[in-house]
Amino acid sequence: LTSWNFKQQKTVIDLGDGVKVGGPELTVMAGPCSVESREQIIETAKIVKAGGAKILRGGAFKPRTSPYSFQGLGEEGLKLMAEAREETGLKIVTELMDIEHIDVVCKYTDIIQIGARNMKNYSLLKEIGKLDKPVMLKRGMAATIKEWLLAAEYVMNNGNHNVILCERGVRTFGEETRNTMDLSSIPLVQQLSHLPVIADPSHGTGRWELVTPVARAAVAVGADGIMVEVHPDPQNALSDGPQSLKPKNFQLMMDEINAISESL
Ligand code: PEP
Ligand code: MN
Repeated sequence: LTSWNFKQQKTVIDLGDGVKVGGPELTVMAGPCSVESREQIIETAKIVKAGGAKILRGGAFKPRTSPYSFQGLGEEGLKLMAEAREETGLKIVTELMDIEHIDVVCKYTDIIQIGARNMKNYSLLKEIGKLDKPVMLKRGMAATIKEWLLAAEYVMNNGNHNVILCERGVRTFGEETRNTMDLSSIPLVQQLSHLPVIADPSHGTGRWELVTPVARAAVAVGADGIMVEVHPDPQNALSDGPQSLKPKNFQLMMDEINAISESL
């Protein structure tokens, strides 16, 4: 179901109000790693909207490496995301970690994000396959392209064909970057599959100075969109501050990737 030959045309996911994922226009999803407060999410939503993003990202259920790190605001965070949507008209994408939170996440979000850590959670994938809600499936941090596409297959063969893939880097031996951004996977997956592919240079690099250059490269190799972390005050962010763009740098990134996209 994921293969190009199955459909022989690109999947375009229509979120309504003219917001589409899968072209022809580049889709930008931007926002904080975590929803932290009303002020933070509303302020960030306005910033990313002004920069031209169509989708607001923000985690409410956070898959943190340490149990002592901020775990997210849960449903309260989802409500704040929905408020930000009301204020700005942006669509929203947020991560779903557990089967038990399917109903509450679906109640608020426009796109369900399945994180890298859950890419191989096959019981979760089967359940979201039964939903009528677009899904963005991140690549597992050690997943091959085949495993990633088979994970998408789990969602699709349960009935949900609105799947977006997101390359977020894979783990290698270097310590200078958080992950190694696999840019080659983007055109490769587009040859193999009709599904849209988004690039996440924030988790792909872990360093804000590298985010814009890698975003430019991802657009140049043909990504259908970019997911990027933006925070009004990265130094005080409750998660992923070091890889979050400040508002001004987000605007610069947008100008650069739009120029590249238009030249393709
Ligand atoms: C995120 O998008 O904040 C996130 C946790 O990403 P990943 O699942 O790619 O690590
Ligand atoms: Mn993050």
